[in-house]
Amino acid sequence: MAKKTLRDIELKDKKVLVRVDFNVPLDKEGNITDDTRIVAALPTIEYVIKAGGKAILFSHLGRIKTEADKATNSMRPVAKRLGELINKDVIFVGQTRGKELEDAINALKPGDVLMFENTRFEDLEGKKESGNDPELGKYWASLGDVFINDAFGTAHRAHASNVGISSNIKEAVAGLLLEKEINFIGGALENPERPFVAILGGAKVSDKIEVITNLLKVADKVLIGGGMAFTFLKALGYEVGKSLVELDKVDLAKELLEKANGKIELGFDVLTGKAFDANTEVNVRQFNEIPEDEMGLDIGPKTVERFKEILKDAKTVVWNGPQGVFEMDAFANGTKQVALALADLQGKAVTIVGGGDSAAAVAKFNLEDKFSHISTGGGASLEYLEGKVLPGIACVQDK
Ligand code: ADP
Ligand code: MG
Repeated sequence: MAKKTLRDIELKDKKVLVRVDFNVPLDKEGNITDDTRIVAALPTIEYVIKAGGKAILFSHLGRIKTEADKATNSMRPVAKRLGELINKDVIFVGQTRGKELEDAINALKPGDVLMFENTRFEDLEGKKESGNDPELGKYWASLGDVFINDAFGTAHRAHASNVGISSNIKEAVAGLLLEKEINFIGGALENPERPFVAILGGAKVSDKIEVITNLLKVADKVLIGGGMAFTFLKALGYEVGKSLVELDKVDLAKELLEKANGKIELGFDVLTGKAFDANTEVNVRQFNEIPEDEMGLDIGPKTVERFKEILKDAKTVVWNGPQGVFEMDAFANGTKQVALALADLQGKAVTIVGGGDSAAAVAKFNLEDKFSHISTGGGASLEYLEGKVLPGIACVQDK
């Protein structure tokens, strides 16, 4: 179902509530160590400014469990950084409600940008934000004329700052970032150009059961590497030595392999180490010759070739999960080769990366520009790939 976006409504002179995802990492001194999420929201913010709206921005930041957490999770440094990025004053109000905030909003002129304090400060007395307290959603909705949800990172949660507001306001639409996530991930799942290849990896099968199950339904091939491959190898009867394996998931892996009807590809070989250590001795082992005292830490060269062969003709690719322990140089090659194979598809296929560590791997290899879409949501992109309806998307009005 197509969703209404900020292009579909009047913004001029309107008080525009914009839920962004500014949940950025901060160091101990409160410096922002990675502003990717702020940068990702700029198109929406700039659109609102240009359209003559009065932008009222808000986000959560970290978790607020005690009064002391407030000092280390204030939005103030984020507002400052945003101001630098848009080259414009950002009015910061250190409150989540009250007269000072209301007065500041009423004083806004078209094109102004205001940001208020961390929405999770409302979690201290009874989880009002995270529990979608009806009074809070209603109050925040009363501060604006229209609502734009652009926070994909929290779209898998029904909070006061997304679902709560949208159910109390006339117009609730998607921002440009949320629209992009819907178009790419939703598009791949609902109406992919084929062949559609999914590449899965990461540490555990148990984290990704629903993702595997859902992608098996829609993809033409599902390539599985990373730690999760060993549970599948075990299911096929191979000995996997000291590799990461989830014995309680072996039966499930068997079932998935049967259901997959040849769609699942595991390759032929792995790189092993004697220990989970960057300096361990590295060996190439075929699936049927993994020694008892070794563990698989990356896909092997023949597997890389097989995966590349399949990827070469793909028209849609969804990638979630590193193929090996890419944080260690000795075991980064499989993930890097897959990333390069996808980079080669630029202009020829739609390539989508979901998952925090997978996105980090793409960044590590400096290939960010070569992908059609790198999802900004970790948990949200996983739940989307699982085929779930995300409350933060559902709460945006249909066209
Ligand atoms: P994402 O965040 O992209 O969804 P995951 O969190 O599922 O990915 O998994 C990422 C982690 O999986 C990485 O830290 C990586 O080191 C680990 N991993 C990949 N392959 C293996 C392996 N063979 N053994 C152990 N850990 C692995
Ligand atoms: Mg992860």
